[in-house]
Amino acid sequence: MIRYSLVTQKNPREIVLLKASPCIWGHCSFCDYIDDNSTDINSNILFNENILKKVTGKYKTLEIINSGSCFELPIETLEYIKSIVVSKHIKKLFFESHWLYKDRLHEMDDFFKVPIIFKCGIETFDHNFRNKVLRKGAVFSGPAEVAKYFKSICLLVGIKGQTTEMIKKDIEYLLKYFQYGCVNIFTQNSTSIERDEKLINWFKENYSFLDEEKNIEVLWNNTDFGVGTICNS
Ligand code: SF4
Repeated sequence: MIRYSLVTQKNPREIVLLKASPCIWGHCSFCDYIDDNSTDINSNILFNENILKKVTGKYKTLEIINSGSCFELPIETLEYIKSIVVSKHIKKLFFESHWLYKDRLHEMDDFFKVPIIFKCGIETFDHNFRNKVLRKGAVFSGPAEVAKYFKSICLLVGIKGQTTEMIKKDIEYLLKYFQYGCVNIFTQNSTSIERDEKLINWFKENYSFLDEEKNIEVLWNNTDFGVGTICNS
């Protein structure tokens, strides 16, 4: 699996896919990314150092993903990232975090002392679809509450059972409430959740304009960032 890459189009940055302890939630019905989690912390630390050694600071921006939340990375990895932030003059970080950590985001801000854009996998604002079908474990009142904590959200598009009405509302909220966003078009994986080609074609016809939006990234394939499978928590 590719673990280091450059995102060169919007918000140019280096991106690394690291290994961490199991995701705090671990129940999302569409997720098989947690197979990348490991309880062997020592091995994770060494593994992550080898990936992070590739960071050059080329864009002064670094995104770190780990098939879970940044809070699940070993402290030694966080310290190593911090040393890279200093030595490579990184000015901005992107981390992913599940909604369950929303009250702890300031810990990372205090630790790294550079601006951090936290990405939260909301998947959809439709409460039932999010929590009953996708089993996301993220309960909130609506986009305004999410925006109090997160500048960036990730949406999931193209799953059987999802409707065009849900997606219209999701994109409306994304554009209205959030500074950054990532729309992941669902790639069939090993779970029983099914990709809906018809819905994805509808989305392409109606929302390809998002490709022109400065801070919105549409991942038509889940490897579009150049690294392995994506969680965005
Ligand atoms: S999608 Fe993300 S938050 Fe959900 S179980 Fe998988 S790793 Fe955890």
